[in-house]
Amino acid sequence: MQATEKIWMNGELIDWDDAKVHVGAHGLHYGSGVFEGIRCYETDAGPAVFRLTDHLRRLHQSAEILHMELPYSVEELRLATHELIALNGLSECYVRPIAFYGYGELGVHPRSNPVDVALMTWPWGTYLGQDALDKGIRAKVSSWKRVGPNTIPHVAKATGIYLNSMLAVIEATRAGYEEAILLTDDGHVADGSGENIFVVKDEVISTPHLSASILPGITRQVVIEIAHTLGYAVHEHHLIRSDLYVADELFMCGTAAEVTPVRSVDDHEIGDPGPVTKAIQDVFFAAVRGRDERFSRWLEYPEKTPAAPGS
Ligand code: PMP
Repeated sequence: MQATEKIWMNGELIDWDDAKVHVGAHGLHYGSGVFEGIRCYETDAGPAVFRLTDHLRRLHQSAEILHMELPYSVEELRLATHELIALNGLSECYVRPIAFYGYGELGVHPRSNPVDVALMTWPWGTYLGQDALDKGIRAKVSSWKRVGPNTIPHVAKATGIYLNSMLAVIEATRAGYEEAILLTDDGHVADGSGENIFVVKDEVISTPHLSASILPGITRQVVIEIAHTLGYAVHEHHLIRSDLYVADELFMCGTAAEVTPVRSVDDHEIGDPGPVTKAIQDVFFAAVRGRDERFSRWLEYPEKTPAAPGS
């Protein structure tokens, strides 16, 4: 992780090295936090944050699910994000908002703990490498099942739930694969450790339904809309493991992973990225860099500071 100058923490801009929490923080002991992963891209009109407001709304929704009251509104966090990116002088970066129960009591119930909120920004290139974007990755179905909706609500992007993803990706990489695919307890395809999944078969695009314990990915919505624009129908329904093995094309998507082709699952060869994947990938990268007018509404630029009266 590349350090930048400042971190926004509880309303203040502090030096990167001073952004610390007490070891007694509730969030550290019980994973009681919510977070987001957002990308800011360089465009001809300057740095633009991709779907910033939607990500911050999801942060608020995740907090609500955990009975956590965020002390900052979507609008306050939105302005703070733009301010921080500018202050750190970044033209392209990853943005990580996090909110967690902080230092106070250490009982499981966080009744009197403060809610701490921080924003970090730093340069983060491709998540799985340029090769992954160009040629695709090898994935493995995990022996770990995705956390079910009545265990921890999967709709919340909560810190603690990521133990599930961490175990899965460690298992997959130790076995020589690049990414894990998790199934639900009843055998439906859910998502990757940090990505949603799309299958192309006979020119029909499918993706697991929101009820399959997936995180409702913002990139997933983006891909669905791009696919519609390209004239493809997208079916959201339950998929099973063998649907992955016999797919014509397969790809994963997420803020970090962007649109990453999958070239094999459990050693069933799917092959080089196919035409549908490539078409979606091309439009995606044009959209995030402000080169596709049809999707310019997804890019959020810092507001120009209004001129002072009389100036
Ligand atoms: N599924 C999981 C488990 C994730 O962690 C992520 C990354 N946030 C996604 C899907 C993709 O979500 P998004 O497109 O909003 O980044």
